[in-house]
Amino acid sequence: MDNIFPKGAPLPEQFSKYFIGTAYLKMLTTAGVPIGNVTFEPGCRNNWHIHHKGGQILLVTGGRGWYQAWGEPARELHPGDVVEIPAEVKHWHGAAKDSWFSHLAVEIPAEGGSNEWLEPISDEEYKKLA
Ligand code: MN
Repeated sequence: MDNIFPKGAPLPEQFSKYFIGTAYLKMLTTAGVPIGNVTFEPGCRNNWHIHHKGGQILLVTGGRGWYQAWGEPARELHPGDVVEIPAEVKHWHGAAKDSWFSHLAVEIPAEGGSNEWLEPISDEEYKKLA
């Protein structure tokens, strides 16, 4: 898969333990608004999680993947798609089972912001997604 931004290194253990499969991270900037390039191998996805106070914006740059908010159908993602994730919304994002996937993750700055990591999306749920 072509990747506009550097792929970076496999996630450190403090984050990788909340992912199924291998994802890579390259922080592109921390000047005011932290922006990281996240690349997921096929089948890789993160656990359900919540961005407290700040929220997150995903800018899709490569491959094919999914975003799902709790209680909503999964949304298929392609390069050029923008996902606005409000603070306090439980959600996950990751690759399709047969495709690499890359997005920029923009962290919306907020005082006292934090991430809360929750349970993985089950294989049963994930396998339903084409
Ligand atoms: Mn997120």
